[in-house]
Amino acid sequence: MAAHAGEKAQKTGDFYCAHCSEKVHVTQGHEIPPCPNGHATFETRRNEPGNKS
Ligand SMILES: [Zn+2]
Repeated sequence: MAAHAGEKAQKTGDFYCAHCSEKVHVTQGHEIPPCPNGHATFETRRNEPGNKS
């Protein structure tokens, strides 16, 4: 599932840049910021308890 900068996040969680894997944390209902490296496409991965490395 992909998400883009400027969209409102439907879930609170971490978004990983599809280009450079930079992580941004977004809260539900807030707009997704661009990646610090200027990209705008993200893979979404929610914070899932028990899935911490
Ligand atoms: Zn990036």
